[in-house]
Amino acid sequence: MSADAILPHMPDPKAALDASSERFVQITIPVGMLQCNCSIIGDLATGEALVIDPGDEVSRILELLGRHKLTVKAIVSTHAHIDHVGGLYKLRQYTGAPVMMHRDDVPLYQGMDVQAAFLGVPTPETGEIDQLLTDGDLLQWGSMAAQVMHTPGHSPGSISLYLPQDTGKITSAAPPQLFAGDTLFAGSIGRTDLWGGSMEKILDSLRSKLLQLPDETVVHPGHGPRTSIGEERQSNPFLVNK
Ligand SMILES: [Zn+2]
Ligand SMILES: [Zn+2]
Repeated sequence: MSADAILPHMPDPKAALDASSERFVQITIPVGMLQCNCSIIGDLATGEALVIDPGDEVSRILELLGRHKLTVKAIVSTHAHIDHVGGLYKLRQYTGAPVMMHRDDVPLYQGMDVQAAFLGVPTPETGEIDQLLTDGDLLQWGSMAAQVMHTPGHSPGSISLYLPQDTGKITSAAPPQLFAGDTLFAGSIGRTDLWGGSMEKILDSLRSKLLQLPDETVVHPGHGPRTSIGEERQSNPFLVNK
C-alpha cells in the first residue's frame, strides 16, 4: 500500500509558500479493495472539510482529519457504487456530518445487498441520506465552495464536483479542480454496463459538461492518477474528436 498522498492544494511547489496554500489542504487516498479515491478538502483557517467518497478504511480517513484538525461539514458521494459508499454510514456515525448524493442513485444505495452479492463481499451498513443533490447546487464550507454537476452515464445519479478558481469567498491562485467520480479517468471513462449505466448518457455528460471546463482544470478521478481536462481533451480515446 502506498504512503498517503498528501497533496497541497497547489501543485506548483513554489505556490506551497503562498498564503492560500497554508489555508487549504487536499488529500486523496485510495481506499478499499477496489482502491476508490477518497478525497478530503479542508480549509485550515476554519478547520472545515468536505469528504468525497469514503468508500472504506474510515479509521484511516478519521486519522487524517484529526491530523489536520479538520471537522467534516459534509460527506459527498459522487455515486452509489459499493466501492464509493462503503464507509458513508460509519463516517456519518463518527462525525455527525450530513451525507449527500444525487436522487437518481438512491435506489442503488438502497440495493447495497445486490451490489455486495455481485462482488461477493459482505454488505456494508447503510444509513440515511441527509441531503439530495441537484445539478447546479453550490456546496459551501469554510471559505470554499464547489458546484454540483449531474453527470449521468456511469450510474444514473453520478455527479462531479467542480471547484472554480473564484468560488467561495476568496479567489484561489490554484487551477480549478474537478472531482469526477467514475465519469472520467486518465485515458478512459467510466464503464456503463452496470445498473442504470448508459454509454449515450456518459458521452453526453462528458461533451456537454466536463469538456466545457477550462483545459487547466485538474481532474481527480474516482480511481487512478490525476489528470487535466486539456490532457483528456487531447488524448483520451473516448473524447478526441467528440
Ligand atoms: Zn462506480
Ligand atoms: Zn469506482
